Amino acid sequence: MLLSFSSSALPILAEPQHFSLVEKLLFAAMVVASGYGFWRRFGLVLDKILKSKKDANFRLFPLGKRVWDFFWEVLCQAKVIRERPLPGLAHAAVFWAFLAFALVTLNHCATGLGVGFLSPEGVIGRWYFYVAAAFALFCAVGIAGLFVRRFLVRPKWLGEKLSWESGFIAFLIFALMATYLASFFVADTDPAARGLWWLHTLALLTFLPLIPHTKHLHLVLSPATIFLSRGSFAQIPPLSGDEDFGLVAGTDLTQLISLQAYSCVECGRCTEHCPAATTGKLLNPKEIILGVRAYLNDLGPASDQPLLGKYNAQEAVFQCTTCGACEFQCPVGIEHVPILVGLRRGAVNTGEWDNDYGAKLFLALERGSNALGLSAVERDKFIQKEALPLFDGSQEYCLWLGCMGGYDPKGRDIISDFARVMNYLGTSYGVLRKEKCTGDPARRLGNDLVFQQLAEANLETLKQNKVKKIISICPHCVRTIQEDWKEYGTPPEIEHHSEFLARFADKLPTKGADQPLKGTGFSPYIQPTRKSEGALAPAAPEKIVFHDPCYLGRYRNVYDEPRQLVQLAGTLVEAPRNHERSFCCGAGGGLAFLGEETGQRVSHNRAEELVATGAQTIATACPFCNTMFRDALAEGEAPPQLLDIAQLAARNLPTKSQIELG
Ligand code: SF4
Ligand code: SF4
Repeated sequence: MLLSFSSSALPILAEPQHFSLVEKLLFAAMVVASGYGFWRRFGLVLDKILKSKKDANFRLFPLGKRVWDFFWEVLCQAKVIRERPLPGLAHAAVFWAFLAFALVTLNHCATGLGVGFLSPEGVIGRWYFYVAAAFALFCAVGIAGLFVRRFLVRPKWLGEKLSWESGFIAFLIFALMATYLASFFVADTDPAARGLWWLHTLALLTFLPLIPHTKHLHLVLSPATIFLSRGSFAQIPPLSGDEDFGLVAGTDLTQLISLQAYSCVECGRCTEHCPAATTGKLLNPKEIILGVRAYLNDLGPASDQPLLGKYNAQEAVFQCTTCGACEFQCPVGIEHVPILVGLRRGAVNTGEWDNDYGAKLFLALERGSNALGLSAVERDKFIQKEALPLFDGSQEYCLWLGCMGGYDPKGRDIISDFARVMNYLGTSYGVLRKEKCTGDPARRLGNDLVFQQLAEANLETLKQNKVKKIISICPHCVRTIQEDWKEYGTPPEIEHHSEFLARFADKLPTKGADQPLKGTGFSPYIQPTRKSEGALAPAAPEKIVFHDPCYLGRYRNVYDEPRQLVQLAGTLVEAPRNHERSFCCGAGGGLAFLGEETGQRVSHNRAEELVATGAQTIATACPFCNTMFRDALAEGEAPPQLLDIAQLAARNLPTKSQIELG
């Protein structure tokens, strides 16, 4: 076979430059048929998306973050690679090859019609084709690897059923790359060059109409989904008026939700990381999204049929802890949390959710203003017993107790110890007498009415007390105050105690209770709690495993600060699932108040993992995690001790007796 070589001895792409009229007509007819096949389905999908309800609070501007996300997540495929490096790279190779092939394909089609604009003989064309060849090689290897994974390795997250359409599409992509690469190894006068050109055309024009009929629709939609996402992690959009009850029927599906439903690539990353799905519950975030898609396919966005029922189960929707692992993992920008909360809103606001625990919780929030259903007198007693100063406008911080810090025994321990540390550092703070629940559980369970009452009452109290800065031991309070309250006013600045403590890390005693007293506000009146007593710190370097709370890590991107504090107290060890891949404790989304779970308890699953690290101490930075693990660990023999990071910091402070002696 006679090959074409350039002066640099590299083979040149053999692309026929002349086609007969019959060939041109045949090619044109094939392009039209393929384009029609594509549009017939894609037009329908687009119509359903555009006819969905407008997203009331959607703002395109500012564009900066959108452009960055597009660059990083779409063009660089950073998220795809970061979360699953090998398959991610294989996928990225295919995507980058598609980009490189955009021009090759355009020129291929133009050549078929006799108006090619890139010549394999010209300098630009020749080098562009070499670059595309390099991408084609990576793509061929990548798609072969993905084929092996999907059909031979078959991770369970991809689903039980083998998708032959995926196999066929992988074959077409491989054929596209192989025919292109093979064209470098034949002469352009060789009939084989023409044969390869037509085979390439056939693969291309078969692939095109299959895109909108399969999950490969994400190729077209996901760049838009990522660019148009709400922009803030797990952001729950406000209801758009008195007539908005959440996601009840097809008429409530917004354009963003419909776009996301059609963008799902069915990769199962969300399910793989979902604490509900992995502990045997009904909830499967991928199936939730596919359920919405099936609804749209069958009934469309104008339907008044309920969204919950045939397409998605109410039970599944209320098993979500709103941990955000699904949303964090999703490579195509699908925002599961607002969809799940939207479906809950629909069920709660129409009275369809009939749950004794839920009803009791909402009543407790309405009447007693705390999620634990206790009398506010209990909170007052705690404040008095611990001699916590009341906020009077002169202090720097308002120490937010939250329901857990004000009423739960373990949460109170954390507050007491954190107050001791603040005293030690000389930070001025005070607590509010009239603080109410932030509304977090009501918000995430879909009861916006109760949430609004609580948010407005708290905002008013903070305003009256002239609070400028809040500090909280609870990441759920932090998130709700900072983000969710914005719907009803301007909340004061708030930070989590891990951020505060990390700022003062160099001022905290690291070991032993032999540090001199510092600070102007040190108060001996707050007793160290039983758990944080200095004696509990073992002499040998203590192994401490840190559990990342979902609302601190994924929601707030705070990972280093609590670790900094752990390192002051002992040797940090990591659980297998850590940082943004941390596994939920099972309490979020109001689930801490909803009674027994089905399947394995999420908190037990996580506690087992933490215990298996062999650490003597489990450190947390959220009173909900602490309470969940306290119960889970109580069932084990000789469990590790469980301390909040504030308690780790506090246990090296001088005790009351040392102060009195000294
Ligand atoms: S937010 Fe968490 S619990 Fe809810 S579906 Fe996603 S991964 Fe599962
Ligand atoms: S929702 Fe996202 S993560 Fe889940 S299967 Fe679909 S594309 Fe994958």
